Amino acid sequence: MIPELKLNTNDGLPGIGLGMWKVEKAMAPGLVVNAAEVGYRHFDCACDYGNEVEVGQGLSEAVSMGICSREDLWVTSKLWNTYHASDHVRPACERSLKDLGLDYLDLYLIHFPIAQKFVPFADRYPPEWFYDPKAANPKVELAPVPVGETWQAMEKLVTDGLVRNIGVCNFGTSLLRDLINQSSIRPSVLQVETHPYLTQEKLLRFCREEQIVYTAFSPLGAQSYFSLNMAESDEAVIKQPVILDIASKHGKTAAQVVLRWGIQRGTAIIPKSSRRERLEENIALFDFELEESEMTAISALNRNRRFNDPGHFCEAAFNTFLPIYE
Ligand code: NAP
Repeated sequence: MIPELKLNTNDGLPGIGLGMWKVEKAMAPGLVVNAAEVGYRHFDCACDYGNEVEVGQGLSEAVSMGICSREDLWVTSKLWNTYHASDHVRPACERSLKDLGLDYLDLYLIHFPIAQKFVPFADRYPPEWFYDPKAANPKVELAPVPVGETWQAMEKLVTDGLVRNIGVCNFGTSLLRDLINQSSIRPSVLQVETHPYLTQEKLLRFCREEQIVYTAFSPLGAQSYFSLNMAESDEAVIKQPVILDIASKHGKTAAQVVLRWGIQRGTAIIPKSSRRERLEENIALFDFELEESEMTAISALNRNRRFNDPGHFCEAAFNTFLPIYE
C-alpha cells in the first residue's frame, strides 16, 4: 500500500507517482499498464510532455484489464505557459482531458509562473517554448497575464467539475503567498524540483505551515538531466558515497535511499522510469526506514543545485533570458 498525503480538500494524493516527462509516445501505453500492474496509481502528466494521448491509452487499458478502476487512479496534468489567459485555461484543460480520455482530472497545476503568447492548437500542440520556431531568430515571447487571472480560471475548473484539485509548479514563497491572498480556492499542491542536492528546506516548511502538499519532481537529482546536457557527469546524487554507504547498510539501491528520503520528509515523489525493473525498484520503499542520522546526512548533501532552471535553459536552448527564481 502506498501512503497518501492528505490535501486541504481532503483528497489523498498517493505519495509515489510515475513521472511521464520524456516518456516516448510509442512506449507510453505499455509503460502505464506495467506501472499499474506494479502498483502505481498516480500518474504525473502534462500537455508539454506531448504524450497525453498515449498515456490515456495506457490508463484506459489498465482500467479495462481490471487492474484498477478510474476512481483508484490519480491523474495530474498541467496548464502550459501559452494558455494562461482566462479564455484559454478551460480549452487547454479540456484538451488534456480529451487526450487522456478522462472526464475529470484529480489535479491540474500551473506548469510555470511564466505566461507566454498564445499559440492556437491548430498551429502547434504542444506549443513548447518558442513562439515561432520558424522565425529567423526564434525566442520565447511573453504575454502580460497576471497570475491571479489564471488562478481564477483554474478555480472555475473546480467549480465546473473538470478538475478536483488545483495547484502550481515552480513557484516560490512570495508568489505563493500572493496567490493564497487572492484565492477563493487555495492551492492544494506545490510541485518543485527537490532532491538531496536541492533540499528546499524553507519552501518545504512554508508549504507544511500553509497546508500545501509538496511534490518533489526530479527526485533522483541529475539522472534526468544528463541526456539533456543540463548536468555534469560528476553530479550524480545516486553515486554519492554517503548515499551508497546507507544503501549498502539497508540492502537497498542508492535510488531507493534517495526516494525513501523524499518520502520520509513528507513529500510526494514522482520518479520517472521507462524500465519495468526500475518501476518496481522505485516503488519498493516501504520495507525499510532511514534513521534520523541518515536523513540528516543525506540532507547535508544540499548544494542548492537546480538542474531545471528556466533562468539557464531558456537562454541556452531558446535564446531568451528568463529567470524566475531570483
Ligand atoms: P527523475 O524521475 O528524478 O529521474 C528520471 C531519470 O532517472 C531517467 O533518466 C531514468 O532513466 C532514471 N532512473 C529512474 N529510476 C532509476 C533508478 N532506480 N536508478 C537509476 N536511474 C533511474 O527525473 P524527472 O523525470 O525529471 O522527474 C520526475 C517527473 O517529475 C517527470 O517525469 C515529470 O513528470 C515531473 N517533472 C515536473 C516538472 C515541472 O516543471 N513541474 C519538471 C521536471 C519533471 P530510465 O527511464 O532509463 O529508467
